[in-house]
Amino acid sequence: MPNSLMPVVFIGHGSPMNAIEDNEFSRGWEEVSQRLPMPKAILCISAHWETRGTWVTAMPKPRTIYDFYGFPRALYEVTYPALGSPKLADRIGQLIQSPHVEADQQWGLDHGTWSVLVRMYPQANIPVIQMSLDRTRDLPFHYELGKQLLALRSEGVLLVGSGNIVHNLRMMVWEDRAFDWAIDYDTQIKQWVMEDDHQSIIHYERFGRAAELSVNSAEHYLPLLYILGVKQPGEEVRFFNEIIWGGSLSMRCIQVG
Ligand code: ZN
Repeated sequence: MPNSLMPVVFIGHGSPMNAIEDNEFSRGWEEVSQRLPMPKAILCISAHWETRGTWVTAMPKPRTIYDFYGFPRALYEVTYPALGSPKLADRIGQLIQSPHVEADQQWGLDHGTWSVLVRMYPQANIPVIQMSLDRTRDLPFHYELGKQLLALRSEGVLLVGSGNIVHNLRMMVWEDRAFDWAIDYDTQIKQWVMEDDHQSIIHYERFGRAAELSVNSAEHYLPLLYILGVKQPGEEVRFFNEIIWGGSLSMRCIQVG
């Protein structure tokens, strides 16, 4: 594998509180950033930006978005003042031939992005842009779109997919346990990632009920497909934060390269 390829990461982000809590999850995020080469810019694909069409944030100064309710005040006082990168937004527009990528001036950095980056890069000194999830499209579309981002890895851009492999809030419990179906599917994903069996991950429904419950409404699963799209066959993978939280939320993170 050419060592000029920037690693990529999938982050299981879970609760926004991880932004301000020093816990096993946020420590795992801090550690991965220390293992990575310093990126020139970051492109984050967050579970929390769902659109019609594919958009990238193109403003020079993205705002911090508080897209959650009922959390302690301290969380609303966190800002993540990283600059945007209109240049990188342009570059992505050129790189992706199909579909046409739209330049956004409204969004900013939602908590899928900033709650993680505030731990990984607390100085906020690396430009960050986001790419949205086009929810009119199917899973193979997202995977193929991810593939078109490969060149960015040679240009010093860190791709971050931020979601959760198992994410079912309706089934969540406020106790320290993990449902069997959540463990089964989370473990299966690890296996498939190690085997480069991306088709099984894309066509998750073939795995049956455990997969249906885990993928659920899919917005937290889709960012994983972008990360797998830029993974090269046989490329080294490393797993961390391999924990199921609240019964039905996998905090598993993946570093590729
Ligand atoms: Zn989330």
